[in-house]
Amino acid sequence: MYIVVDLNRCQGYAQCVFLAPKVFELHGEEALMYLTRVPEDQQDPVRRAVAACPVQAITVGGAAGAGN
Ligand code: SF4
Repeated sequence: MYIVVDLNRCQGYAQCVFLAPKVFELHGEEALMYLTRVPEDQQDPVRRAVAACPVQAITVGGAAGAGN
């Protein structure tokens, strides 16, 4: 599973950082850093972060929905 964040869309609301702090990190006000390859044990938190992002900036790819 991998993720891409559209940083033009991201407004730095940090919902994703709260929900999946091992994957998303904010540096300063709006500089979002994230892991593009999501570790196995972080997939559920990342799915919650994707659902919670107010501007739908996070795209999930790879085996999403296939259970891994
Ligand atoms: S929740 Fe969405 S808008 Fe907020 S920091 Fe994460 S990707 Fe950006």
